Amino acid sequence: MSTDNKPSTKEEEYFKREDAERLRKLHADEQRRMVASEREALRKQHAGRCSQCGALMVPEQAGGLHLLHCPACGGAFLDKRAWDFLHAHAEPHTVMGSVLNWFRSANKP
Ligand SMILES: [Zn+2]
Repeated sequence: MSTDNKPSTKEEEYFKREDAERLRKLHADEQRRMVASEREALRKQHAGRCSQCGALMVPEQAGGLHLLHCPACGGAFLDKRAWDFLHAHAEPHTVMGSVLNWFRSANKP
């Protein structure tokens, strides 16, 4: 109430802000850690499995590309390296044609 409290009030406000900032950083760190652990748990659970049906995928080679083929639904997955190769290849139609031919033969009943 008196003016004697002003300096200590300013000090208290400063320390409250410092504490709040420290807690905010701790909370943000915890959120990042949880997201990373959840992401890792999902990766372990889904790695190598088909995004459409969940079956375990089989590695295959087609048109110079390494891909994962789903024997259950006939789908496929290209990792980033294969995708980049496909886009960077001098004759993408040749690579794509080989992949499509492989799919036609691999997915025949
Ligand atoms: Zn599948």
